[in-house]
Amino acid sequence: RLEVQNLRRVFDGQAVVEDVSFSIPAGQVTCLLGPSGCGKSTTLRLIAGVDRPDAGRICVDGMPICDETSYVPPERRAIGLMFQDFALFPHLSVAENVAFGLKGGGANTRARVGELLEKVHLSRHAQSYPHALSGGEQQRVALARALAPRPRILLMDEPFSGLDERLRDGIRDETLGLLKDEGTAVLLVTHEPHEAMRMADEILLMRAGRIVQRGAPYNLYNAPVDRAAAAFFSDIN
Ligand code: ATP
Ligand code: MG
Repeated sequence: RLEVQNLRRVFDGQAVVEDVSFSIPAGQVTCLLGPSGCGKSTTLRLIAGVDRPDAGRICVDGMPICDETSYVPPERRAIGLMFQDFALFPHLSVAENVAFGLKGGGANTRARVGELLEKVHLSRHAQSYPHALSGGEQQRVALARALAPRPRILLMDEPFSGLDERLRDGIRDETLGLLKDEGTAVLLVTHEPHEAMRMADEILLMRAGRIVQRGAPYNLYNAPVDRAAAAFFSDIN
């Protein structure tokens, strides 16, 4: 479970993230949705721990990982990351990429890698190298790699934006299935309302650093908070 309270981040005297609060229970996918520059990636970086907030508090499973008195470094936060350029290690095989974040090369590691490759339907590519895979296949390897150490929280920043438009919905559905199966709490950043509608249990609509509306996808679609929100959702096909 991820809990974020009153998060604030200021750059050059300007608040880029302001009073952002939300929580994500295990097994839930929450989408942080909003236009370019509204502060989505900044919020993710604060949670990942690669940047520090000017105010606020972040807890994982009830334990503070960042507040006035505590600061847990990124590698000890049990938070997985998956970004737009999901950069696999080109000199490592698919299986080695997935095993990268796991300690030791024993039977447990092999079993976990095998299980994940089966779940993303890439078992027969275990010994292949990334350059021999399609974009969609590479994306699935990156997902398996992010989930391998069983992170409590998975942060995803526009993870589908590099993919062929025609493949995206299929990969979104497959990704969602795996995330639900693993029971990870997921915060997924996107600027595409369609993606949030398709994947989210809850949507956080962000604008100019603040969350302006939150709720189930249908609620935001049917009862947008204002004209700008309505316009944002209106071009969903
Ligand atoms: P996009 O959809 O384009 O990725 P975003 O919602 O992820 O946008 P952020 O990357 O969080 O937006 O940036 C929010 C604002 O904060 C932008 O105006 C950006 O220029 C500014 N910003 C981000 N990082 C820094 C930084 N390190 N120093 C100064 N300004 C920054
Ligand atoms: Mg961004």
